[in-house]
Formats: sequence, structure tokens, C-alpha cells
Amino acid sequence: MVTTHNLGFPRIGSKRELKFALEAYWEGGFSLNNLETIGKQLRQQNWQIQQDLDFIPMGDFSFYDHVLDMSFLLGNIPERVKNLDGEEIDHYFQVARGRSACNSSCNCSVLAGEMTKWFDTNYHYIVPEFTKNTKFELNIEHFSKQLDEAKEQKGSIKPVLIGPVTYLWLGKSYDHTDRLSLLLDILLAYKQLLQFLVQKGISWVQFDEPILVMELEKEWKEAFVFAYNALENDKINILLATYFGQLKDNLKVLQKLPVQGIHLDAINARDEVEAVINGLGKAQILSLGVVNGRNIWKADLNAILEWLEPIYTHLQERLWLAPSCSLLHVPVDVSRELKMDSEIRSWLSFAVQKLDEINILAKALKNGRASVKEELKANEYFINQRQQSKRVNNPEIKNRYLQNRKAMTCRQSSYSERVKKQIAILNLPLFPTTTIGSFPQTPQIRQIRNKFRKGDISWDVYENQIKEEIEYCIKQQEALGLDVLVHGEPERNDMVEYFGELLDGYVISQQGWVQSYGSRCVKPPILYGDIHRPAPMTISWILYAQSLTKRPVKGMLTGPVTILNWSFVREDQPRSETCYQLAMAIREEVLDLEKSGIRIIQIDEAALREGLPLRHSQWQHYLDWAIESFKITASGVSDETQIHTHMCYSEFNDIIASIAEMDADVITIETSRSNMELLKAFENFDYPNSIGPGVYDIHSPNIPKIDHIVQLIHKAAEHIPPQKLWVNPDCGLKTRRWEEVLPALKNMVEAAYILRKDNNLQ
Ligand code: GLN
Ligand code: ZN
Repeated sequence: MVTTHNLGFPRIGSKRELKFALEAYWEGGFSLNNLETIGKQLRQQNWQIQQDLDFIPMGDFSFYDHVLDMSFLLGNIPERVKNLDGEEIDHYFQVARGRSACNSSCNCSVLAGEMTKWFDTNYHYIVPEFTKNTKFELNIEHFSKQLDEAKEQKGSIKPVLIGPVTYLWLGKSYDHTDRLSLLLDILLAYKQLLQFLVQKGISWVQFDEPILVMELEKEWKEAFVFAYNALENDKINILLATYFGQLKDNLKVLQKLPVQGIHLDAINARDEVEAVINGLGKAQILSLGVVNGRNIWKADLNAILEWLEPIYTHLQERLWLAPSCSLLHVPVDVSRELKMDSEIRSWLSFAVQKLDEINILAKALKNGRASVKEELKANEYFINQRQQSKRVNNPEIKNRYLQNRKAMTCRQSSYSERVKKQIAILNLPLFPTTTIGSFPQTPQIRQIRNKFRKGDISWDVYENQIKEEIEYCIKQQEALGLDVLVHGEPERNDMVEYFGELLDGYVISQQGWVQSYGSRCVKPPILYGDIHRPAPMTISWILYAQSLTKRPVKGMLTGPVTILNWSFVREDQPRSETCYQLAMAIREEVLDLEKSGIRIIQIDEAALREGLPLRHSQWQHYLDWAIESFKITASGVSDETQIHTHMCYSEFNDIIASIAEMDADVITIETSRSNMELLKAFENFDYPNSIGPGVYDIHSPNIPKIDHIVQLIHKAAEHIPPQKLWVNPDCGLKTRRWEEVLPALKNMVEAAYILRKDNNLQ
């Protein structure tokens, strides 16, 4: 007997039903009743898909975010929404998304909760809010209804909830209250919750405690021991789940906890399985996450059985099988990818297929491999085919970068030399103005791309229409008087998918959506093989833009680290190798741009920071190869070519040395919302090259005032010499409307004039 279960299933639906229902509800075109019906249908569909498992998860569905659900379940509801009119779900959405005032004189606006990344995934959660007044009081109604619904299903139900210690850790204290001072109080709520589950006849509950894979301070380790001793309840079993990494010294903590079961991510912590088994209590069960919940590749079932069979012999019915983590992080169903290259599709496994894999593994353990002979044979066939495919491994590509890597990471001269040559050629004023790349993506632009994708218009028609957009964009920028122009990126749906579509070694799915936050989904392109650039990817658009103006137009590229971090990538080689290959491809594009006469090239690394490993001790290794990859991309050009990079976030302090090491001539960063706070990082660190601290918060519809921009740059100039300062928005403008962008940029250019004048007077 081996028990199968799952930690969570994607909640958006295979056709993104939840996204569309939510957006319709928010826009007022859909009633609450309709929204709830869609939610119920999705839950039931998901339970049906999972009905072959021994335990089916509940509580993993959410209308926005499961961490915010937990806050509501624990009664930790921000004061600012508590007494508002409307249903609880409306309060819930107000915390998730904020609410703007009904008119400018009304003060009915509601601040959204902060949102941040869920560990090292691309999922974002709403940060629980704590103050000294925080009280936890179980608010069970909503959860209880869903539990009753789940109990109508055939299988056994296992509620899945965030554990108390991780919940406290994920939250933020808004008045310096120590989060752990809330432990006792929160445990009372969890105790009540357990009692409630006992009354409902639940035998197992899963508490997720993924912070056990992070470096924890002593108090947090002690909190675990205290919490789980307090929660012990002989009428219900607790399965404590960790995932996304290794336990390392937290293994000792885990072994002290009086829980009935442990779930271990046997993909990321495979080498800890033995130690966990050795320390397992006699009656404890061990759930092994043997199928990767973070990637989209078929699991090698025979290889898994090879190491799993002896464990099963030893543990017998105390062994449970599951994916490594919740399947929230993968798309729903690969069998819907009818347009995908069928060979590559046969290598893939999305959520539905991953559960099939779990079921096959469990059968093989219980009844012997012969009982699933056909399934194992088919799996072996596809695994071998992928391994041997020339589309995956191309020795020529591998050798190319292996030979020359080091030599390719040096610019000809140092920045101080380069900048003189660049100034002479580019002839830019002090405080040069520019933008980050994209201009408003109007419905018209989206329509042009969609028509072309569907085959409704020919390439020639498409090309002409995109050129018209570029022309409009250049004209506007000239009229505004910007110094360095961009083509506006109208041909790009997404800064990573665009390059994925044009590089060999990538396949793009049609429905491979993964929730990023709330109704927002992303569709990461799939990198399956050695990367090769068959033809230039951006040159013709950029050259067309440059042909329309005498001012310099920036060539606009996405950097290798960002492409890597926002794709599903292969796992048969280290991420660093894949990144070097991407770096080589983008380097070729950089060199072609330079050869075509483009003088400024921007290589965006928007996702560099989010690739940092969960453990600090592993940061340097990541930064080494990430920075090296960027440098491979950027360093082939002559001194006269100016390299820009862009990063859209503001926490730099801890990686500033690595950012400087990238040696981009100019870096543009997000700063306007934090009032240049970020530049504190530059107080103690003498950043050598030029910087464009964002002065226009593109996330807000507000138009920045001229004197505000002047002030921001003055503030920046306290830390950075004025000769090194650029004036630009925080990020790309694609989500804004022209009516907002034009006056904002007008003010920005005006502010730069004022700054130049002031500077000359000094
Ligand atoms: N060049 C891209 C744009 O302007 C950068 C986007 C980003 O940083 N996320 O849209
Ligand atoms: Zn950005």
C-alpha cells in the first residue's frame, strides 16, 4: 500500500476561466453569484481530475491568493476594509487590489496590500499585515462551505493550509511589533481550526512550512518546536510540508516536531531523503515529492522507481507519493496543446499529466513494474528520444561558447575611457532624457499582432502597420524633445516570449498559462534545446526607426538572465550553461545592431534579482554566472557603442557590487515611488558608471510635476555626480495610455532643461 496525494492544483482553469470571471466581476459585468458559480465549477473540475489520488487537496483554490485567504480565515483582516459596506469578498478584493476613490473629492479609496514573490517562484502573494493590535479570530464560514463541497466528492479530502510559523514569517509588521510575539495568539486560532476539522471528520491536514528550506534565525527555529508541540492533537494527523529546497540545518528542527507526517521535496532535497528516513519516528509517514512541480518535463519514471523501490520496501504503507510542491506553478493540461510540435509535446507533462505520473509510480510500487509495463515503456521511449534528439543537444553550439567564454567578457577599455569616446560621438547634453523601451500598447497594436498570428493578414501588411506605429512613436518623441529615442516595441507581445519565438531551442505553448497574481497569468516559453539564433531578431525594426530620425535610437534587447528566469528551462544541464547559450545568441544580436550603425544598445535584465537563490550562501554562485552571462552579451562592442541595461526594482543594497560588475555604461532603475530611497545604496558604494534613476512612476496614472522631477534629480545628485545622471521613467510605458504618457514625458523633458540651466549657473 502506498498513498498518493497532491499539494495543490492550478486554480485558474485550463482556459483561464477564473481570470475572465474575476475581471468581468471587477468590471461590474458579472454578478457575485456568477463568480461563485465559476469558482465552484473549477473546484469540482479539479477534484474530478484528481479523483484517482488517495487524498485530494482542498483549500488550495482561491479567488485571488491563498495567503490572503489564510489572512481572512484567521480573521487577520486589515482595519481599513473591516467596516466598509459590501460583502466579505469585496473586502477581500479591496485588500488584494486596492480601490480608487469614486471621485476626486471623496476619500473612499482603499490602499492595496503589499504584494511580493512567493519564495523563488513567479507567483506573488499578498503580504499579511501585523501591528501590535493584531488579533486572530477564526473566520471559518467560507472555508467551511468549501470543505462541505469537497466532502461531497468521492475521495478522501486533505485540507491544505499555510502553517502558523510560515504565515507569521511571510507577513510584515507595520509598527515594529515582533512577528513572533503573535505566536501564542495565532496558535489559539490554529488549535480551533484543528478542532473544527476533527468535528468535520478530517483525518489528515497539510500545513505548509516552506520557510524550513531557508536560513532561519534561532528564534524562528524555536518557534517551530513550540508551535507544533502546542498543536498536537491526537484526533487529527498533521502532514508538515516543505518544498523548494533543502532543509540543511533545519532538518534537526523538523525531526523534533511531533507531527504524524513529513512531506519532503525529493527533487530539490533528494540527497536529504536518507537522513529524513533515518530520523523518522516509528509511526511517522514520509511523503516524497518525486515529480517536479516546478517544471513541465515528463518525469523519468524508471529512474525514479530505481531509487524509490528500496525506500518502499523499507517504509511500506508509511510512504506517500506526491509532486514536489503545489502544481500551482505549472500549466494545466498539455493535451490541449494541439498546435505544438508533436515531438516536443511528447516530452512535456503539465499538472494533469504529473498526477498521472504519480499514479503510475504508485501502481508500480504496489503491484510491481509489470503492472504498468506499457506506461513505463512509453515513458522510457520519450525520455530516451529527448535525450538523444539533435534538437536538444547540438555539439557545435556547446563548443562555441565553451572555448571562448572568458575572453568574451571584457570590454576593450575601462568605463572612464569609453565614456569620453561615447560623449564625443553621441553629443548628448547633460542629464540626457530617454525612456525604457515600450510605448503604449494600444488595442490597435494588439489587433495588428493578433491578425497576423491568426493568418488574417500577410507579412507585408503586418510589417507596414507595425512600421506606421514605429513612425508615430518616433514623431512623438522628436516632438517631445527626448534625447535618446526608442522604437516603442509594438511588435512585442512580451519581452521574453518575443525572443523565445525567434530562437531555435524554444517552443511556445498556446495555453501554458501560470498564475502570477490574482487574475494575472504568464505564459513562459519553453526552452528545450541548445539555443541558436537562426537570423537577426530586432535589426529591421530598429533600423527603420533610426532611418526616421537624426537622434540616436536605442537597440532594445532582453538580457540572457531575464530570458532564462522567465522561461521553463531544460534540466539536463545546469542553468548556467543554458544562460551562457542565451548570452551568445543575444551577443550576436548586439553585434549585428552595432554593425548596422546603432550606437546605443539596451539589454534589459528585469528579472536578474528574482533569480537569487533562497539561501544567501548560494547567492554568489548565481551572481557569478548571471553577471558573466550579461557580460558575454554586452562586451563584444567597441568602446564607442554605449550599453544600457534596465532593472525594474529598487532593492539594490545587497547586490550593488554585482550590478557594478556588469559594467553597463548606463543603468536605468526604478526609484520614483521610493523617493530615491534606493540611492542610499550608492552612499556607501561608489558606483562607477552612469545611472538613470526613474523619475516617473509608470505604475500610476498620475502625471509627475516638473518641480517634483527636478527635486528627485537633485536628491539623486546628492549621491551621484550630475555628469553621470540620466533622466527617464521607472520602467516601460506599455501599460499606460498616450494621454498619460505625453504630458508626463513633456514634464520630464522640461525638468531636464531646468536642471541643465541650473547646473550651468553653478
Ligand atoms: N524594455 C522593456 C519595456 O520597456 C522593459 C520592460 C521591463 O523592464 N519589465 O517594456
Ligand atoms: Zn522595468
